[in-house]
Amino acid sequence: MQGMMMQRPLLISDILTYAAEAFPKAEVVSARTEGDIHRTNYPEIRDRVGQLANALRAHGVQMGDRIATLAWNGYRHLELYYAISGIGAVCHTINPRLSAEQMIYIVNHAEDKVIFVDTTFVPILEALQSHFPADLTYVIMTDRAHMPDTKLPNALCYEELLAEQSSEIEWPLFDENTAAGLCYTSGTTGNPKGALYSHRSNVLHAMMISVTLSSTFGEGRKVLPVVPLFHVNAWGLPYAAPMSGLSLIFPGPAMDGPSLFKLMDSEEVYSAWGVPTIWMGLLAEIKAQGRKPKGFEDVVVGGSAAPRSMIETFEEMDISVGHAWGMTEMSPVGTHGTLPSTMKDAPFKERIDFKQTQGRRVFGVELKIVDDEGKTLPKDGEAVGELFVRGNAVVSGYFNNEEATAKALDADGWFGTGDVASISAEGILTIQDRAKDLIKSGGEWISSIDVENAAMSHPAIANCAAIGMPHPKWDERPVLVAIAAGDARPSVEEMHAHMSEHFAKWQLPDDIIWVEELPMTATGKVSKLNLRKQLADYVLPDLR
Ligand code: AMP
Repeated sequence: MQGMMMQRPLLISDILTYAAEAFPKAEVVSARTEGDIHRTNYPEIRDRVGQLANALRAHGVQMGDRIATLAWNGYRHLELYYAISGIGAVCHTINPRLSAEQMIYIVNHAEDKVIFVDTTFVPILEALQSHFPADLTYVIMTDRAHMPDTKLPNALCYEELLAEQSSEIEWPLFDENTAAGLCYTSGTTGNPKGALYSHRSNVLHAMMISVTLSSTFGEGRKVLPVVPLFHVNAWGLPYAAPMSGLSLIFPGPAMDGPSLFKLMDSEEVYSAWGVPTIWMGLLAEIKAQGRKPKGFEDVVVGGSAAPRSMIETFEEMDISVGHAWGMTEMSPVGTHGTLPSTMKDAPFKERIDFKQTQGRRVFGVELKIVDDEGKTLPKDGEAVGELFVRGNAVVSGYFNNEEATAKALDADGWFGTGDVASISAEGILTIQDRAKDLIKSGGEWISSIDVENAAMSHPAIANCAAIGMPHPKWDERPVLVAIAAGDARPSVEEMHAHMSEHFAKWQLPDDIIWVEELPMTATGKVSKLNLRKQLADYVLPDLR
């Protein structure tokens, strides 16, 4: 027997309509590229989103078109999230830290029609423009007074586009499975792969995190997404915050410790979300000032595991820390380390032990670990296997990429994360290792295989391995361990010059370690596990 309830599509436009009506006083505060602090609220954003959506339509944007953004966290970027998806187009957020090669690949692969760019990133596009489709429209996200002199052809001005339009719009109704957002992950080797979110998955994900991450969500609170809007929907905050009546405080380009401290202190930010590297900077400033920013009580750490000392330092200041584990392919949140109420009065050490884990799954995400043959392992806290996930906000494949899609899911439809983990009997996830051969620096990926391939193309190198070495600020930094082909030992600078075409500067190895041989596994691959053990005492050049 079927239930007898209405079925309305879950659409992103409903989130903003609701927030403007229910939470008119909640603010959206942005540190802007123009250098000032800008304040607005959900009703004003709703009106400007109406103008922007009308402008997109006036420029011929249709349902399904991909509209790219290359921008910091700020109110204009938030407006793009809602205007683009609201009319059924796809908001394709681009990570400005990608290499030139990757950026050229994704703009062409996505077949972007329009690209919205912050003034800061205009030079990046100017340098790559000849590789982009000739009919790509460029819009610079500022007002006329701040428009830069640019070589971009026929660049339009964001504020002028809006000013020409009415704010009146009737949001179209369409199937909730319509694509809403596109984010490429470089979290594997080879070309980046696109996770194509739908209205349904984004709305559900916002609901999932707002019920599970109860430490952050509560009407009237202020949340600071330091995690970029160009990185997996800023972990869902652009949707979940308005839905729950939270104010959004955006840091813009200034993500160093002193700037974050100042903004958080003056705005009395309650909760801040970001990668461990960002919190290193903030903690240094907290130490320098001898106090925490006013009102700061909650921090969500994801992208990489937070070091225990970082968790302890926050907790000692009565700032509650929770890991969020997830992936681009999961919209992204899969688990969260909110302390169970039963542990509220547990000794400090036990609470920190818990907070070091990746926590419990959020409602709507299922987890399993499997062995090498794909057999499901017990959730007993002992067994360690590759982590697979399933849920309504997990990808079912990759955008226009049959090959990657074919490899994404197992026979039962679970997505393989490439993380190696254990799960306790209480359902607590602990990430133990990475099966994917990758280095994560400052929350961004570097493919060790790509680094190795580029290095191997140098005639002086016979064989090599790229591995991540622990770094207190960046989490990991790549180093190259190499066997020389002859007598020549190229310097790090020479290797950089040789490899720079394929990589962004920050992706290049910090050091070359010359060795006579590399440890091998039984199957003839370099054993990175043993290599890391051999280099246990190694210290990166900038830490010596
Ligand atoms: P991305 O798709 O770039 O967001 O990267 C997702 C990957 O980052 C995961 O598969 C993990 O390897 C890693 N990761 C994300 N969050 C955490 C966390 N809280 N602890 C440890 N690793 C994490």
